[in-house]
Amino acid sequence: MVRQEASETQAGPTLEPTRPQSVAMVGVPFDGQASYGRGPALAPRRIRQALYGGRNRMYTEAGVNLDGDPRWRDVGDLAVPDSLEAFDEITQAVECLLAQGCRVLSLGGDHSITYPLVRAFSHRYGPLQILQLDAHPDLRDQLDGNRYSHACQFARIMEEGLASRLVQVGIRFTTPDLIQQWQRFGVEVVSVSEWSCPLGFTWEGPVYMSVDIDVLDPAFAPGVSVPEPGGLTTRQALDWIQQLRGDLVGADLVEYNPGCDPAGHTAVVAAKLCKELVARLMA
Ligand code: MN
Ligand code: MN
Repeated sequence: MVRQEASETQAGPTLEPTRPQSVAMVGVPFDGQASYGRGPALAPRRIRQALYGGRNRMYTEAGVNLDGDPRWRDVGDLAVPDSLEAFDEITQAVECLLAQGCRVLSLGGDHSITYPLVRAFSHRYGPLQILQLDAHPDLRDQLDGNRYSHACQFARIMEEGLASRLVQVGIRFTTPDLIQQWQRFGVEVVSVSEWSCPLGFTWEGPVYMSVDIDVLDPAFAPGVSVPEPGGLTTRQALDWIQQLRGDLVGADLVEYNPGCDPAGHTAVVAAKLCKELVARLMA
């Protein structure tokens, strides 16, 4: 019903067309499900400023100049409402991009958007293998009565069978309830001693990568809503992106909060991760 309403309004996705077999980067300025203050809705704009604003910023570490490379395109931001109705619009818009044969990188937004994003991917590819980089499991059944919070999206994804495998890297927060959820859904939690070993994981079939920027230690990326000390270095996160052995069909970069990043340091880190994700999706 929500989907029908969305198609009848002016608020639907207004994406530029892109060419098949390319990578589409799309902003999702939505933070309606963040539990600790707003901010991530401003992230796509701020990440773009860091990405496009500096000299040599468009070169990847492998020396590829993304500026003008026809294999990818920034298709702009989705125009989504500040309510749960946004979810159906996100799914619809990403389904359109996938139907064009694109691989899709989404810039969030709070982490709740991964549920509608993965829903779109699963409609095209079937149940996905998901690699989640995050300080937090985001597997709660509900948070303060809300089942669609940015603390719950992977519970919804697993309950609905949208993923066949969930691997979590960087986790350093849990509770007895979350430990039960790990067991219930058969989640693979990568131990701290393995954080430097992305090559130890092999993947068969389409892989989706969800990067919550709070996976990084706050020393590297303080600009997040829920900082958790003891995290990955920027280098380790880049290794997980660059060294992924598998068919990466989509990714998201979420939870950057410009309101917690007055000096813009985290925007530069987010732009770097974004570039390497585009490059890995093009590979
Ligand atoms: Mn997190
Ligand atoms: Mn998260």
